[in-house]
Amino acid sequence: MTANAEPAHVAESKALFERAVRTTPGGVNSPVRAFHAVGGTPRFMVRGQGPYLWDADGNRYVDLVSSWGPMILGHAHPDVVAAVREAAGGGLSFGTPTRGEIELAEEIINRVEPVEQVRLVNSGTEATMSAVRLARGYTGRRRVIKFAGCYHGHVDALLAQAGSGVATFGLPTSPGVTGAQAADTIVLPYNDLDAVRAAFAADPEDIACVITEGAACNMGAVAPVEGFNAALRELCHAHGALLIIDEVLTGFRVSSAGWYGLDRVAGDLYTFGKVMSGGLPAAAFGGRAEIMAKLAPAGPVYQAGTLSGNPVAVAAGLATLRAADTDVYRALDRNATRLGALFTDALTAAGVPHRVQYAGNLVSVFFTDTPVRDFTGAQASQTWRFPPFFHALLERGVYGPPSAFEAWFVNAAMDEETFDRIASALPAAAAAAAAAVPPPDPTGGYAVSEDVE
Ligand code: PLP
Repeated sequence: MTANAEPAHVAESKALFERAVRTTPGGVNSPVRAFHAVGGTPRFMVRGQGPYLWDADGNRYVDLVSSWGPMILGHAHPDVVAAVREAAGGGLSFGTPTRGEIELAEEIINRVEPVEQVRLVNSGTEATMSAVRLARGYTGRRRVIKFAGCYHGHVDALLAQAGSGVATFGLPTSPGVTGAQAADTIVLPYNDLDAVRAAFAADPEDIACVITEGAACNMGAVAPVEGFNAALRELCHAHGALLIIDEVLTGFRVSSAGWYGLDRVAGDLYTFGKVMSGGLPAAAFGGRAEIMAKLAPAGPVYQAGTLSGNPVAVAAGLATLRAADTDVYRALDRNATRLGALFTDALTAAGVPHRVQYAGNLVSVFFTDTPVRDFTGAQASQTWRFPPFFHALLERGVYGPPSAFEAWFVNAAMDEETFDRIASALPAAAAAAAAAVPPPDPTGGYAVSEDVE
């Protein structure tokens, strides 16, 4: 079937979506969920258990999105559910400090050495927004370097794209972001140290920070080239700027210490979310105590939150981190390698040009023969092969990310049955990718700002 044809068994999701668009812009509360990049009806999920999701029509899917990262243990893990039940039974929110917040902070600090203090917030966006504010407040400088294709949430200053030429003003990528908000953002190609050197040379006194994902995973999985993060740290320190390593996506997923566990470069500030929230709304930023001391009420940089450190979210995060033992990380790595190998086998057999890329246990399929090391490379891939590939899997009960620019998120609950299902779905998906024809507009109309969760 073609990408946009509807199977008969999505009637309930379809009805819900039609209802949702009446009350909610685009029918969803985060753009990628609307399936714009792949067409068709978004599936309305009603239940998750282990490696599976069930939609409103009763279809069961192997879940390779894992709520965009948090569910490393699989859905409804008994320890996490029990912790949430217990916390909720004791009251949902107090607006006071609680013991759990200290424990979650300690859990994070014990795992990621360069982090000496953390502040809990409610979303990854809030974490990066606050970290950038703190970096600016601490250094007394304005400008921020980010990399094209890296996503750090929908912070105004970070919804920017490169202007023409290095170190020129960033341009907004969304209406509603003013030129002034984007102007202090310098957007550079990922994995390009010369561009970073040139930006510092052009503006040595006014760059507050470089923000980078531990490994870029929002243009698909694009790991930093050897030494990239370390060189960023050196360049930042040589110029009095801070390095913010955004581990919202990689944190506590790719290892118990996140990307830091795989590439021991000490950032000045870190951002976390997803896994440490256990699937409830919680996130964090942290770093050197001397920098964190500038944060209110200890210092002058303002930051706050009514629900920050919410006891139920903290309980879910703590239970998730505590359950994520060595076996869980081994399973995540093994499952990612196995998934990638299945992609490779099926696509090779179907003669589809492709690269399976990894960033730790995050996996991506790019339809290209060339290794992808930056956003230009990701955009140059044959993204038009993705919608039929995605839909052929979906039809066969495998729920992948509905965008060519997202990573695939395995979880530790995946078992032989889940892999059997993936393996038997993939030949048809690879055949669909092979049969795909490029649209008149070869980019397929993709806009990465719409594709990130
Ligand atoms: N930073 C990174 C690296 C992310 O991947 C995301 C979300 O996907 C965010 C920040 C924003 O997190 P949230 O969606 O919780 O605001």
